[in-house]
Amino acid sequence: MGSSAAYHLARRGQRVLGLEQFTPAHDRGSSHGGTRIVRQAYFERPDYVPLLRRSYELWDELSVQSGRELFVRCGALMIGRPDSAVVAGTVKSAQQWDLPVETLDRAAMRARYPQFSLPEDHIAVLEANAGYALAEPSVLANLELASDAGAELWFETAMESIELGPDGVRIQAGGLEVIAAKVVLATGAWASTSLALELAPIGVLRQTVHWYEPAGGQAALVDFDPQRFPVYLWEWPGEEGARPTEIYGFPRVSGDPGVKAGIYRDGSPAHPDQLDRVVTDADAANLERYLAKALPGLLGPRLRGSACMYAGVPDDDFVIGFHPRSGARVVLAVGFSGHGFKFMPVVGEIVADLVIDGETIHDIDFLAPDRPS
Ligand SMILES: Cc1cc2nc3c(=O)[nH]c(=O)nc-3n(C[C@H](O)[C@H](O)[C@H](O)COP(=O)(O)OP(=O)(O)OC[C@H]3O[C@@H](n4cnc5c(N)ncnc54)[C@H](O)[C@@H]3O)c2cc1C
Repeated sequence: MGSSAAYHLARRGQRVLGLEQFTPAHDRGSSHGGTRIVRQAYFERPDYVPLLRRSYELWDELSVQSGRELFVRCGALMIGRPDSAVVAGTVKSAQQWDLPVETLDRAAMRARYPQFSLPEDHIAVLEANAGYALAEPSVLANLELASDAGAELWFETAMESIELGPDGVRIQAGGLEVIAAKVVLATGAWASTSLALELAPIGVLRQTVHWYEPAGGQAALVDFDPQRFPVYLWEWPGEEGARPTEIYGFPRVSGDPGVKAGIYRDGSPAHPDQLDRVVTDADAANLERYLAKALPGLLGPRLRGSACMYAGVPDDDFVIGFHPRSGARVVLAVGFSGHGFKFMPVVGEIVADLVIDGETIHDIDFLAPDRPS
């Protein structure tokens, strides 16, 4: 989100300094691991759809400007019982915003996507215009375009403190004091820990994702190519009142020997500076129980895993707007939780609107930092 904010601010003529405590597009925060699902018929909350419409335009623009396809439209399947939050919410969002989706019953799924093995009472909703974004290349594209537009970017330079002063916002970083007219905080999982400006607690959860060789070996990888296999999010009902489990995954990305899958919101609380980055078979055990019945052809040897962090507030909606006590000098873009990446381009635009104009035409009231959450 910070890379996108830097790009949008620089291209609109602002003098921008970007501070990043690690290296460009590193793997220690929330934006690594190759791919992110991008979709529009938003089951979580239809209010996000207008933001996603704009995000789609900006994804395409970013691809053109960076000379690389960053958003691959291979389609997305939302799977579950007809009354599940994922399926019913997707249909509701699509109806409200007139988005094209197609409902596929078990027989249609068997004919079209034989890789998926649906229980009798599950159906799927296909959104053909959805797909996945390339995570690290998208961040790098923003950084490169920001730099081309004149932004100064300092890596391996942590912001050590931030204070509101009469002459601007004072930041200590890399042994220097920087005084800025406005500051954008897009500090991800570090939002609550590193700032003197108090924020509502942003909870951090450790998450893992895993790459599998198909059961049929490398030759079977073609069955998981994006032309044949879309991204998916699949809600399985919890047993005896337990909350449902949502598994998700991606097609094989060109050149990758494995196919990626994970469980949405399956993590344990973590501290961003002490995250356990060693991923073990135990991390994958629950996912594999579901993959064995849902996608049996996918479940060959586990090739590798990656740990990442969700950082969010309890209602799982983002936190975007002026810091309530900053006199409109500090813009927050945090709390993107487990579903924020697809919004990255539009978040950059919104942040730039707030910094430059003090307001935005996008409806972000539901994301206000001072809302009850
Ligand atoms: C496993 C996983 C799967 C996901 N899947 C999806 C998906 O399919 N679709 C989707 O839309 N979203 C998904 N998400 C969510 C999405 O990836 C995140 O919401 C998004 O990437 C968060 O971006 P961010 O910029 O807020 O955080 P980050 O990318 O972590 O960026 C925050 C940056 O701030 C820097 N920083 C922090 N403090 C300081 C400081 N004091 N000084 C200098 N630098 C600092 C950090 O080093 C970091 O680079 C997923 C997340 C995870 C973890």
